[in-house]
Amino acid sequence: MIRIRNLNKRFKDKAVLRDINLDIEEGQVVTIIGPSGAGKSTLLRCINMLEVPSEGEIYVDDKPVYYRTNSHGRLSFLSKIKLTWLRVQVGMVFQQFHLWSNKTVLQNIIEGPCTVKKMSREGAEEKAKELLEKVGLLEKINEYPSNLSGGQQQRVAIARALAMEPKVILFDEPTSALDPELVHEVLDIMVRLASEGMTMVVVTHEMNFARNVSTRVLFMEDGMITGDGKPNELFGHPNPRMVQFLRNLEPMKSEDPSKSITDVKSAI
Ligand code: ADP
Ligand code: MG
Repeated sequence: MIRIRNLNKRFKDKAVLRDINLDIEEGQVVTIIGPSGAGKSTLLRCINMLEVPSEGEIYVDDKPVYYRTNSHGRLSFLSKIKLTWLRVQVGMVFQQFHLWSNKTVLQNIIEGPCTVKKMSREGAEEKAKELLEKVGLLEKINEYPSNLSGGQQQRVAIARALAMEPKVILFDEPTSALDPELVHEVLDIMVRLASEGMTMVVVTHEMNFARNVSTRVLFMEDGMITGDGKPNELFGHPNPRMVQFLRNLEPMKSEDPSKSITDVKSAI
């Protein structure tokens, strides 16, 4: 689904991603953990074309992102139309929700399908209602984001991402901006998406999600992936830097170690 080869990203002289190679298969739920500044967001933003790599290649569903190399070794950049289309394939959910504040919940969800995918308004609205039902917010359909809690806004943001019918969804710390008591309502939906086979890449500090829900965990430090494996393998044999990372995370954990995830998981 996603293939990354020799990806490097520099901001001025600062190397932020160093020679990343990564393959993500359809249906995998990949959690990326690691200290602040490790390059986790930059990696997601490169996959979603919000950043242009300094070097390397990224393929989504076997299609090159940004540019392709022709047989003479020359780079040719993709057209705007192709880039837009590729962005449809890759949904993104941000820490700060990023809903349009001047649009209702419904308008937020149908905007992409109507303008980018050229769906009919009726079709887009029908789909939006289905998705709002799924995230438990159908009764908020005509509300503005400012009248919703953070957890509800993030659930709308997830519905908005799903409305484009992406092949993969990237989540960048989707619960980090939420009050602790609202974290579970967003995680519950992510757990459900995972159980439905959605391909997901999730940057998070929710270690319960990493351990219990994801099929694969990556540990990033200094722009490199230095740990990669099934949750049991990785957490069972963490490298020294990961041990330090997990130790520093301890005090950040909420008092109620969100056992909701395992509850939801066993309920599925
Ligand atoms: P993480 O998400 O793991 O905390 P980021 O990918 O946000 O890390 O950032 C990695 C490094 O790149 C940090 O040192 C950050 O300051 C730097 N960085 C990120 N975005 C930019 C930018 N637009 N311009 C300059 N430096 C940036
Ligand atoms: Mg980040």
